[in-house]
Amino acid sequence: MSTSRLDLLQAFDGLLEPARFKDYGPNGLQVEGKSAVRRIVSGVTASLALIEAAVAAEADAIFVHHGLFWRGQSGTVTGWMKQRLALLLRHDINLYAYHLPLDAHPTLGNNAQLGLQLGLVGAGQFGDSALGFLGQRADGGQFDSAVALAAHIENKLNRAVTLVPGAGAAIKKIAWCTGGAQGYFEAAIAAGADAFITGEISEPQAHYARECGVAFIACGHHASERYGAPAVAAHVAAQLGLEHRFIDIDNPA
Ligand SMILES: [Zn+2]
Repeated sequence: MSTSRLDLLQAFDGLLEPARFKDYGPNGLQVEGKSAVRRIVSGVTASLALIEAAVAAEADAIFVHHGLFWRGQSGTVTGWMKQRLALLLRHDINLYAYHLPLDAHPTLGNNAQLGLQLGLVGAGQFGDSALGFLGQRADGGQFDSAVALAAHIENKLNRAVTLVPGAGAAIKKIAWCTGGAQGYFEAAIAAGADAFITGEISEPQAHYARECGVAFIACGHHASERYGAPAVAAHVAAQLGLEHRFIDIDNPA
């Protein structure tokens, strides 16, 4: 089975509704490739390594969370940009990228899918564009401490996390937002969370955690955003009868 580049774009747009978001880069088809698509490769970032892997997999389209184009770039096609674009164009591969719309999708997005991995369910949203999820353990239980929650996340994501324990009390209400969402910590505190999970930490969050008694856990930008792209791509591939494979390019960040 194959579909057209445009039908695939419409399927992604219909699911992710990019028009609802003010984003840092263009969502949708970022690089136009061949008109017929049979095989999709999904990944977190449109890095050279992912594009090379997609070429090896004979993909017609790549679907990612982090595309090539962001506000504030120089706008020149030089260095790494030239290399990535040249490889895409040489192999006529379509590049679809969805940033905030992929974080936000209520069931297939990065936040929902990270929650699923960690055994958490969202009961509400918080923060800018309501991107943050606020919920608790799916089994209704609690973690005895921030250390216990951090150990649980390390076990599920198979990587070390950075923990700044808050007050040291039991953790029931948990807020999370994938990627570089450390700026959401204050909104999570205001929303009454006992702990906040995101990908990265910056200097101020350690102080907020200590001073407000709310635990902060950074579990990796890449690690926290590995689940939305394959969930959406698999969903759309099944809908359109296409082949799909997720390719994880490891990243220590
Ligand atoms: Zn990200």
